[in-house]
Amino acid sequence: MEATSARNITGNQHTFTAAPRVWGLKTVFVNLYFVANPDGSWVLIDTGVPGSAGKIKQAAAEIFGQDARPGAIILTHGHFDHIGAVKELAEEWDVPVYAHPMELPYLTGQSNYPPPDPSVGGGAMAYMSFSYPKKPINIRNRIELLPTDGSVPVLEGWRWIHTPGHSPGHISLFREEDRVLIVGDAFVTRNGESALAVMTEKKEVHGPPAYYTPDWGSAHHSVEELNNLKPEIAAAGHGMPMRGAELREQLDHLVHNFWLVAVPKHGRYVHEPAVVDEYGVVSVPPPVGNPVPKILAVAGAVALAGLAWSAWSKRSQNKKYGYSKQSRHRLAQRPYSHNRVLRDTPPAIDPDYDDPTEHTNNYP
Ligand SMILES: [Zn+2]
Ligand SMILES: [Zn+2]
Repeated sequence: MEATSARNITGNQHTFTAAPRVWGLKTVFVNLYFVANPDGSWVLIDTGVPGSAGKIKQAAAEIFGQDARPGAIILTHGHFDHIGAVKELAEEWDVPVYAHPMELPYLTGQSNYPPPDPSVGGGAMAYMSFSYPKKPINIRNRIELLPTDGSVPVLEGWRWIHTPGHSPGHISLFREEDRVLIVGDAFVTRNGESALAVMTEKKEVHGPPAYYTPDWGSAHHSVEELNNLKPEIAAAGHGMPMRGAELREQLDHLVHNFWLVAVPKHGRYVHEPAVVDEYGVVSVPPPVGNPVPKILAVAGAVALAGLAWSAWSKRSQNKKYGYSKQSRHRLAQRPYSHNRVLRDTPPAIDPDYDDPTEHTNNYP
């Protein structure tokens, strides 16, 4: 089967060519990628939102021919919008699913992810996050660990890079030859929290989706590592691919201003990460309040104090000015969080281990 010709996928407006032998498919708001070798063998990277199997098979048939099967499915991480069709496709194609060992608890029913943080603000996507599925799937009969030497199963010339922070076992994939980076959610190429940006697809480098990122120190380290690769093309889980100087300048800016532009000003994991191990979540910081009701409460208090406020307005203005200067200063001085370093690959997990009660998922 000749798969190397850049055959255009027709009849499906969501498919796009990200790089030579790399095709993207958007399912609702998340991308997955088909990556091929020159000989036509290929893998699927991520599997979209639930209910995407038909769409993925159709796109695969258009690129590789009817009844084409990949050699493997590879997961950048296990969030629900990247594993939607994994079970169905792995069964139907009868292929292994590769993931990082630190991601295994969330793919084998052992642990839930740390709870998402709807308090980080930033629009509809974040406020909706409470409704996203949180229960782990169990694909233990299909799952395989990524090779420890960094090579990517089936694919030649690619390597995987552990990029934790957004999730503990998050990976990105890099093709050295033409510096193509498949990012996953380590960073995104549109504003991850804005529902408007989801629709308009304005290309712009942003940090990982905040509502689902439980370790900002690791997330920072990870984008730094990806920036050091000086990618020519970045194909992310969210947003259209970016390339060249525009990509590198914006990625560099993200790395150097990460705690100002990517880390939320407030939120559950801002000062303290979720602690995880190879069996799943160990502990999480307590939840913080949603900022919106607080803002409303403050507005109410201001209204009640209206008369008094007007009498003191001049003085308040001065105070306010001083305060905002001070807060800008504080922002710039924000300390790095004291994260547990999660960069070392832990020992492989015993696939027969199954005690969901040991790592309880019933977080508030
Ligand atoms: Zn994610
Ligand atoms: Zn995602």
